[in-house]
Amino acid sequence: SIEVSRVSKLFGDFVALDDVSVSIPTGQLTALLGPSGGGKSTLLRIIAGLEQADTGRIDIEGRDATRLPARKRNVGFVFQHYAAFKHLSVARNVAFGLEIRKTPKDQTADRVHELLKLVHLEQFADRLPSQLSGGQRQRMALARALAIQPSVLLLDEPFGALDAKVRKELRDWLRRLHDEIPVTTVFVTHDQEEALEVADEIVVINNGRIEQVGSPDELYDAPANYFVMSFLGPVT
Ligand code: ATP
Ligand code: MG
Repeated sequence: SIEVSRVSKLFGDFVALDDVSVSIPTGQLTALLGPSGGGKSTLLRIIAGLEQADTGRIDIEGRDATRLPARKRNVGFVFQHYAAFKHLSVARNVAFGLEIRKTPKDQTADRVHELLKLVHLEQFADRLPSQLSGGQRQRMALARALAIQPSVLLLDEPFGALDAKVRKELRDWLRRLHDEIPVTTVFVTHDQEEALEVADEIVVINNGRIEQVGSPDELYDAPANYFVMSFLGPVT
């Protein structure tokens, strides 16, 4: 589980996160949903350990992670614009996290093969990232994040840069992947339809505050306030 307790974050005198508390159960696929500037990426980066909160506490899998550096939190991370190693093959990109952890070569090869199968990229193992489509590249990024067997997977609009059709394919695929390997996952999106379709639970964040936490049905049927109602309302 991820426990965020009374986390605040200021940039200068601007309050990006205002006393945020939220609890994300183990194995759940959670969407962090809200408008641009609401604080989604800031909260995700603080959970990942890429940014420090000013106050508050983060527990990951029952362990106080507040002061742990990112590499000791056992989190996998995928950004919207994924930065791959351009000169390394797809397989080597996926292997990277295992190699820096000095995993034995034969184990690494087995694991990479397994992961590429999982994301349906086995036949692309020897290509360079530049020779993949955007959707394939994001699947490679997911395989790379999963390689270290993270206890938590953090995805910051991983499909944001793709066209609507590929986005939809990938979100359905992410749902199936999660059903197969239920890693605790937080998925950032500003797309209400994406959150409603994919998530077990949705955390709505706006202006640095949590507006509501609930299942897609709960949010849709019983929005806690006007903001949630209008943000979720006009789904096409
Ligand atoms: P988007 O959907 O556009 O990605 P977001 O919900 O991820 O938005 P954040 O990136 O968390 O929003 O930013 C929250 C607020 O904090 C914004 O107003 C942003 O301008 C501000 N902010 C974020 N990072 C910094 C920074 N390093 N310095 C100053 N202000 C920042
Ligand atoms: Mg963001």
